[in-house]
Amino acid sequence: MYYKHFSEYKIAVVSPCIAKKREYEATGLGDYNLGIKSIDKFLIDNNIDLNTYPDSNFDNPPAERAVLFSSPGGLTKTLERWIPGIECDTRQIEGVEIIYDYLADLPKIIDEGKAPLVIDCLSCKNGCNQGPATKVIGQSPDETEFWIKKRAKELKKLYLDENENNVEKSKKSIENIVSRYWYSDYFEREYVNRWENVTIKYPTKNEIEGIYQKMHKYKTEDILNCSACGYNSCEGMAIAIHNKLNRPENCHHYLKRQTDINLAEAENSKDKVEAVLQTSQDGFVEIDLEETIISANDSMKRILKKKDIVGKSLFDFIDDKYKTIITNEIEGRLKGKHSIYEMEFIQSDGNRICCLISASPMYDFKTHTLIGSFAMISDISKLKETEQKLRFANENLEQKVLDRTAKLNEALEELKQQREEILTQRDALSDSEQKINHILEMLPNSVFIINEHGVVTFWNKAIEKMTGVSSKSIIGKGEYEYAIPFYGEARPILIDLVRIDQTTLIEN
Ligand code: SF4
Repeated sequence: MYYKHFSEYKIAVVSPCIAKKREYEATGLGDYNLGIKSIDKFLIDNNIDLNTYPDSNFDNPPAERAVLFSSPGGLTKTLERWIPGIECDTRQIEGVEIIYDYLADLPKIIDEGKAPLVIDCLSCKNGCNQGPATKVIGQSPDETEFWIKKRAKELKKLYLDENENNVEKSKKSIENIVSRYWYSDYFEREYVNRWENVTIKYPTKNEIEGIYQKMHKYKTEDILNCSACGYNSCEGMAIAIHNKLNRPENCHHYLKRQTDINLAEAENSKDKVEAVLQTSQDGFVEIDLEETIISANDSMKRILKKKDIVGKSLFDFIDDKYKTIITNEIEGRLKGKHSIYEMEFIQSDGNRICCLISASPMYDFKTHTLIGSFAMISDISKLKETEQKLRFANENLEQKVLDRTAKLNEALEELKQQREEILTQRDALSDSEQKINHILEMLPNSVFIINEHGVVTFWNKAIEKMTGVSSKSIIGKGEYEYAIPFYGEARPILIDLVRIDQTTLIEN
């Protein structure tokens, strides 16, 4: 490890090669071998689209000469910059089907003085850039190498610019770095032949056929024997799979077929989803990265009261006050975010319609690149209206309750006052009644009072004295009992005339 401050760190190496795992174990120069294919799968599984992120370089100084090391003949091209003409003394050789035989013969060739000075050798036929952990196996090598050459050119220019276009200065700075860390045998490696540890079981003809089926090889034309998997033939690969030394996914023919199957399934599902969306009661709309509507179902057209909305900008149907919200929402979509929010659309007749929008980013399902966004639009105007009415009714109800309570309080207050008045009057009456009773009590004349039912309510002292009947014994008595002290019998007397109404009295 060159940088001491990273000595405690674990290193994950992003590589195109499954064999690097053994290399890191042997040299200690890496802790994890992360295949490019695995990273690609991770990005797809997690809906991460690198195209939506700004371009940026690696944190460390980018490679320059090393950019070509992974290409067939790349080592020779780099060496030519140090030792012009070395190419003539170099053997460039790639592909497992020839290099091992070549290496086996090499000692003899060296002894005979016929060996080249440099051997530029890569195991994989099309170099590391189409290694088994990449996703471009089977691609034209020109396509793959185009991007490598482009990067090599850009970085060469970058370093030359940094060194003021001085080739010698650039070379010198690289030599300084290399000599600072170099030690003898720096690149020495020992390889172990593990082949002897492997006991190969040979599948029967039927078993090979079964494996071919799993590899999507159904016809003679599918047996390509292209060696891209590292075996000389498809049968070699089938034997490796039979012995669990390899997997169908490492055959580029399999990958192509599987991709076709996945695409067909995806197309099929897409058709079904489209049918469902077209008949949905909710609106469905797709927009591209320029906010242009690229598709919409009938419900969406119904919501906007307009048939020809495809090709129009989404902003044509949105009030200015919502444009900032929509712009922010679309920016979120570029970062892969989903969201649900409410907004008003402007219908073709100028009316506003409140909708609930559930929007998501939209990816090209072949390339997994972001191509826009799609949304389900639910018309919630009726719901909003009901909500408004309810709120209004609620507010009204509250006001009514407040009014009623105020009236009740007023009535209560009035009642309280009336009660106070009655109590005052009653006290006053009681006082005057007591006074009258007292006066009547003290009168020297005999006085007694009956009520409208003929019951004695008052009997003063003078009449007690006159009749010998105590007030205690007579008060509360009726049925003309008050007549007995005077007439010896209970019978109507003069006082009973007050109980007869005026008309009857006059008539009689
Ligand atoms: S198994 Fe696939 S990659 Fe290997 S040789 Fe056959 S077709 Fe080529």
